[in-house]
Amino acid sequence: MPKILITGGAGFVGSHLCDKFIREGFHVVAMDNLLTGTKDNIAHLFPHERFEFYFHDVTTFVHIPGDLDYILHFASPASPVDYLRMPIQTLKVGSLGTHNLLGLAKDKNSRIVIASTSEVYGDPEVHPQTEDYWGNVNPIGPRGVYDEAKRFMEAMTMAYHNYHGVNTGIARLFNTYGPRMRMDDGRVIPNFMSQAIRGEALTVYGDGNQTRSFCYIDDMVEGIYKLLMSDYYMPVNLGNPAEMTVLEFAEEMREICSNPNLEIIFKSLPVDDPLRRRPDISLAKKELGWAPQTGRPEGMARTFDYFKQLLSQ
Ligand code: UDP
Repeated sequence: MPKILITGGAGFVGSHLCDKFIREGFHVVAMDNLLTGTKDNIAHLFPHERFEFYFHDVTTFVHIPGDLDYILHFASPASPVDYLRMPIQTLKVGSLGTHNLLGLAKDKNSRIVIASTSEVYGDPEVHPQTEDYWGNVNPIGPRGVYDEAKRFMEAMTMAYHNYHGVNTGIARLFNTYGPRMRMDDGRVIPNFMSQAIRGEALTVYGDGNQTRSFCYIDDMVEGIYKLLMSDYYMPVNLGNPAEMTVLEFAEEMREICSNPNLEIIFKSLPVDDPLRRRPDISLAKKELGWAPQTGRPEGMARTFDYFKQLLSQ
């Protein structure tokens, strides 16, 4: 039975990965220091005989007894509000944490895939973003702690691949949404959904003309799974190319919550907020045979139901 370590296993993406690999028959070791993750996301897995949870901070030495076939390094604060609140932890998990996990992969002869991000492209001057674009990142701006940690993570991963022959992969995740996102993580989808449910005005930052492309969690998990099962080692974009402005999303939100009169208010745009973001996923299609399957209406309806249920508790 293959064994996998998933760091950030109690987080939004990490917990869905735990579910996927349990379904696929793996022995799953989830590791998390619960800084932004929560045991609620994995509570249903605790009784499972193929599931283990280690409460551990991966910026300190990581030990796993016995064989280990796969590692997914998905531990990190990931929303702008979180990494602004925890800049040092964010830098440490991307740098020291990645070093520890690459060392573990080398020692155990595991395939390791790390979670990188569309933030490596910064405020992109190339649109849509292709993997060969080097990015436009402000290293000392507020988002620099996340963007540079992830860029360092990629550099370290390629170095372990090139110099130690470690079997590595790099997933560049674009905006992802779905059940188990934290209500208070500050991102646009949890913010709009909780505002809509409470009947409060939707807070659009700036003029709302900035764009994002939202990928449903199940699609993202499938892409990560396919990348891990491949031997591809260059960075791969994973995301949904359906692009929209934040203002269009606010208008769509009125439909999702069936409240056409919901107010929209404008607030100041956060520093270095990227103007446009849309993945070019040709590479993932070609190398992994992967493309998102879930349309936004379906994904948003499921996510809205999740938040409604959460708020009614
Ligand atoms: N945003 C917004 N209102 C909110 C939260 C976010 O208009 O209440 C905007 C934010 O400025 C950005 C976009 O929505 O342009 C996506 O932000 P998010 O924090 O979800 O993630 P990002 O893609 O910036 O990492």
